[in-house]
Parts: sequence; structure tokens; C-alpha cells
Amino acid sequence: MEAVRVLPDRVANQIAAGEVIERPASIVKELVENSLDAGATRVEVEFSKGGRTLIRVEDNGRGMSRDDALLSIERHATSKIREASDLDRVISFGFRGEALPSIASVCRFVLQTRMEGTEVGTEIVINGGKLLHVRDCGMPVGTRIVITQLFNSVPARRKFLKSDRTEAGHIIQAARLYALASPSVAFTLIEDRRQVFQSPVCPALVDRVAEIFGRQVAEQVMPVSGAQEDLGIEGLLGRPGTGRSTRHEMITFVNGRPVENRTLAYGILESYHTLIPKGRYPVAFLFLSIDPAGVDVNVHPSKREIRFRDESRVRGFTIRTILDCLRGDSEERTRRNREARVITPSAPSSGLDSSRPSVDVAPVPPPSSNRIPPQGSPRNPLPGPWSTDRGQSGSEDTEAPLADSRDPVADVTHPTGSGLGWKFIGVFRGTTCLFETDQGLILLDRRAAEQRIWYERLLKDFRSGDVAAQRLLFAVPLELDPIGGAILADHLEFFDSHGFEIALFGRNFFRIEGVPAWLEAEDVEVFVRDLVGLIRQGRLSGRKPDLAGEALAKAAALRLAGRSPIPDEETIATLVEGLFSCEIPQSSPTGRPTYIELDSSELNRRFHKGRATREEDLF
Ligand code: ADP
Ligand code: MG
Repeated sequence: MEAVRVLPDRVANQIAAGEVIERPASIVKELVENSLDAGATRVEVEFSKGGRTLIRVEDNGRGMSRDDALLSIERHATSKIREASDLDRVISFGFRGEALPSIASVCRFVLQTRMEGTEVGTEIVINGGKLLHVRDCGMPVGTRIVITQLFNSVPARRKFLKSDRTEAGHIIQAARLYALASPSVAFTLIEDRRQVFQSPVCPALVDRVAEIFGRQVAEQVMPVSGAQEDLGIEGLLGRPGTGRSTRHEMITFVNGRPVENRTLAYGILESYHTLIPKGRYPVAFLFLSIDPAGVDVNVHPSKREIRFRDESRVRGFTIRTILDCLRGDSEERTRRNREARVITPSAPSSGLDSSRPSVDVAPVPPPSSNRIPPQGSPRNPLPGPWSTDRGQSGSEDTEAPLADSRDPVADVTHPTGSGLGWKFIGVFRGTTCLFETDQGLILLDRRAAEQRIWYERLLKDFRSGDVAAQRLLFAVPLELDPIGGAILADHLEFFDSHGFEIALFGRNFFRIEGVPAWLEAEDVEVFVRDLVGLIRQGRLSGRKPDLAGEALAKAAALRLAGRSPIPDEETIATLVEGLFSCEIPQSSPTGRPTYIELDSSELNRRFHKGRATREEDLF
């Protein structure tokens, strides 16, 4: 048994680095925070090979004296707080005094800094936590930190780095978050000597969003603002309907700090509750201001998480403010539509009944207008998944034949599922089909059933390599954020082998030139975004083609199912047959039951039939 001893600083720093520096992007985050804390109005970030070989952050902030510079690389040295109670008032990004020593312990670290009013600057060089030298240097006022040989001193950490492209994506995302947080600071980001972006001071947030997330996103948002006591919200919200499959564009700031916080996330999701389909996330860039005493920022060393002292107040305020904004938007749209109608009274050639509540009257192109029509007769662009005429150019009519020779239960001469002994009764709320059987009552979930059919059909296509694609008349542009862009670029082959034609068109810019035959052209942008989101969450990996095919088929099935109008009896018949020619008709691809059976004895029990009280029998 060895004696207890205090760890040398170098080791302690390397351990702390494990918490603070998860990946190269964490270094960029810490250094940029320091630059902003130092009052910089210009910040330049450069990196190479995903940060592995170079990270440089340079600012025109107030700089440090030689003494301060030497102190800054000591553990727990900070100029930002003096005592723990200061944490209640902290408005700077940093306060733990951990970043610089941690970073310097895991790389070759050069710090050059010059304080205003001094003639020369100071240069400090550290390698793997060992101080190599301190000397004078000439430089403008400000601070420059250059990091090379990242994790050379801790090889175990090197192994955990992802591909350069992925790490680069994280760095770019981090830089953009801070650029978003500080519109009054000019930002430049350079990767491998190429400029990724150079954003001047942007007084309007929407301009910054356009630079950072692309113009497509900037056009889909509207301003939000509100205030109450010490609470304030400013920012931009996605218009209802612009949902995403991931939270990556739901970004929250508290007192200017980008944070992940359950209370705010919940408030946003709750507000969009009925406006965005379940399981999707709104686009939101939300800046909450609050008395610093009401927040605990010291929850995690990376300071990405925070906690509110009064969560329900913040949540309530967030929801009220967002709902006001969304309501205002819908009223505004209603008003515009009404005005549009007053001005052109003769317009209703569209067949719109003027007594009906206002609807969006923007002309919608017919669904398949962007497809290059296939040879021969025009074909129904999105047949029900259960139709069995696919690929046989002779039978292009939308009426799917009732029978399929492969189908063991199909019975042409009898309506609806009679092969099963299911007698169709009706449709409940458009979603549940009711059948009578000898045993009792069947309730079939139309959506779940369609999902199952789509899922198995697509999977079969993928496995047999039958991935009919259709070229689009007009390519659909797609602009992604840096990480999404990197992911899509890495997976182009996967998309290609599943019927998408996507061309890289510049960094983070793509052109979708073809879609699988089963996908609507106007759905493709959102669908590809969703798939990129799934890949990002690790739920779909191009490296395991079989599993990826399954994930894609599932995503497509969820998207395609339940779109058709309330079905008539014949459609339902084919649906049931399609379902029972599936391998696993009992459940949807996500594991929900497709139908439930209430047998007569269960019904009797619930109606208390057969009990002692047989009053009815007396009459
Ligand atoms: P913290 O930011 O938590 O105080 P850091 O280790 O990140 O801890 O930095 C230590 C100190 O070094 C800071 O408190 C600040 O005084 C000084 N410092 C770091 N970076 C800069 C910079 N770019 N310009 C001026 N001072 C800086
Ligand atoms: Mg710091």
C-alpha cells in the first residue's frame, strides 16, 4: 500500500482536462469564451485537421501583463471571481480558472499576449504541462493562443477523436454558437487555410443566423420577444410546421451563454405542442436574460448545463412568451389572407368558399410537378403502400387490384378481409377501422398497418437492390449546418444506393437531383434532413448497410403512412390484405400493435352481462 500524496499539478491538470476538454471543439469553446470575456471585438479562430494539428484563437481584447499571463496558466487562477458568493453575480463565461492549465497540459501550448499601455508582449511556451520558456515578444494588443500536437502527451485521448471531418464539424458548430451569442463581435473562422466564414458585426440576429445556419433557415424564422420582472426573452422562432428531427437547431442562451437546459427545452417543446408533429423539434434561437442570482451555472465543468433556482417561473414565462409570438403570427397570417381576398374579390376561381375560415391561399404545385414524368402514362406518384401493381407498367391505374396471387389470405370475390373472417363495419375518426369477427370486434390502426406495409415493402426493395429513382425537373437545394454537411458528404454513397441522387455543391450545400420513386419531391428536403439527424444520433450508420437499410425503411414508413384521406371500404380491404401478406402483421415497425381484438366474452364482461342482476329477463 502506497502512502497518500497530493498529485503533482501536471497530473491534476491532465485529469481536469479529461472533464473540460472532451474534444478539440472544447478547446475552441474555452478560448473563444476567454476572448469574449476579455472584451474583444474581433475574434479569429483557425484550425487544421479537425483541430488535431492546429488550433489558433486570436483576439483584440485587453490582453495580460506578464505576471497575469504566468498566473493564468496556474490551476484555479482566474481574474473573474474572488469568492464562491461571486458565482451569484457571474456574467463572464469563465470563472473556474481551469481551462488554460488543463489545455496546456495536453498539447504544445504557445500563449502570446500584450496588455494595453505596455510596450512589449509576453510569450509563454508549454509542452504537455511543462513550462519551456517565458520571453518578450512583439505583437498588437490582445491575446493569441496556438495549440499544436493535441493529446500527444495523452495518447489514450487521441484514440477517442473521431474523423477529422466530424471534429471539424464540432469546432465549426462551437464557433458559430459563440458568433450567434455575440453579434457585436466580428468573427472569422478558418479551416485548413480556407475561410469557413467571416461574419462582420451583425446588429440583427437574423443576419447572423443566415450566415451561420444558412439562408433557408433564416427565412423560416420570425422574431420573438417578451419581458416580465427580471426575465426577458429575445430571439427567433421557427414558423409552425418547420420541425426538425433533432434538437440541433433548437438553441438556447442564458445571459448570453449557450446552454443546454431542460426547463427551456421543455418550455419550447410545450409551446409548439400542437403545431409540430410529435417527436419533432422546432427551430428556435432563444436568448433568455435573467438576474444571474437566479441561475446556477456551475453544474458541470464544461458549463454547458445550468440550473434555474425557480424553474417553474422560467418555464411559465417561456411558454407564455412563445405562445404570444406564435399566436401573433397566425393572426397576422389570417389577416393577410383576408386582405388578399378583399383585394381580389373575383379570385375564388380556386373554388374556395369565402365563408370558410381562412386558409393559406398560396398556390401549391401539384404533388408530382417536379418530377420528370416516366415513359408512358403518368403514374400515381404516391400509391398506397399496399397496392400490388408496382413496377408492372401495364396496370398504372390507381385502383389497386384486390388480390395478389402471392397472398395466402386474399379472397377476390369477397369484400374486406373476408379471407380472415373480418367483416368491415366502419371507420372510427378516420384512424381506426372496425371489423366484426366470429370471436368479437377488431380495431385496426390504419396508420400502424400502413407503416408495417411500407416498411416491409421498402426493406424488400433495398435487399433486392430495386431502388427506382426519379430525376427531379428542378434540383432541390439543401443547406446544412457544418456537422450535418459533413455527415451527408460522408454518406452520399449510402443515399445513392437507396435511390437518392444528391450532389455536393460546395461546403454544406447540396443539390438533390433525384428521389426514390416512393418519395414526394416536396418532402425530400425535410426527409434528408431527418436522415442526417438520425445518422448524427447514431441511429443510422452507413457502415452497417443492413441496419442502415432498416433504419431508413422505418423512417420512410413513419413518414409515408397515414397520409391518404379517409379510406373507403375497398381501400381498406386492400390494406388488410397488404398487412397480412407482411411477415409480421401484428405490429408496426416501431413495435406498436397494428390491431387489437376485443372478444365477445370481454365485451360481455364489460357490459356486466351474465351477472346475477337479470332484471331485463323479467320483461
Ligand atoms: P477562467 O476563464 O475560468 O477565469 P481560464 O483558465 O480560462 O479561466 O483563464 C484564466 C485567466 O486568464 C482568466 O481569468 C483571464 O484573466 C486570463 N485570460 C485567459 N484568456 C485571456 C484572453 N484571451 N485575454 C485576456 N485574458 C485572458
Ligand atoms: Mg476561461
